[in-house]
Amino acid sequence: MASASYQPGRTFLFFPQYNLELVRSIVNFAKEKKVKMAVFTVIGAVKGASITSYNQAKREYEKIQLDKPLEIASGFGNLSSKNGKPFAHVHVVLSDAAGKAYGGHLIRATVFASEVFIQELRGEELEREYNPTTGLAMWKFKG
Ligand code: ZN
Repeated sequence: MASASYQPGRTFLFFPQYNLELVRSIVNFAKEKKVKMAVFTVIGAVKGASITSYNQAKREYEKIQLDKPLEIASGFGNLSSKNGKPFAHVHVVLSDAAGKAYGGHLIRATVFASEVFIQELRGEELEREYNPTTGLAMWKFKG
């Protein structure tokens, strides 16, 4: 099994700005702070979101568009690199006014009010590359 080990680096709390796109906000924050590898959590609320579910048989993402206010009941992700640029991989559980939940891979969301906790990881900087077994862009370990 391929892996890498890390030391904890800096930790950050931040608010993505109202009305901005959440995933891009996290990537931009990491760029500004020169964070290359990290894990993060995000909770709060969004004005709408696009999530996807990966169809394993077809090897493609199927989009779920949610154009309504939602709570980020749970959000978790990691930061590494794809095509030489910082890339945030984010999964969320979003809930509506009735508490009905939608979950999946977050593509984009418009921030209402969100709180992000970032734990920087110090060690090997991972780049994602196409994996023919899954059809996904997965981490390429050097070791
Ligand atoms: Zn995903």
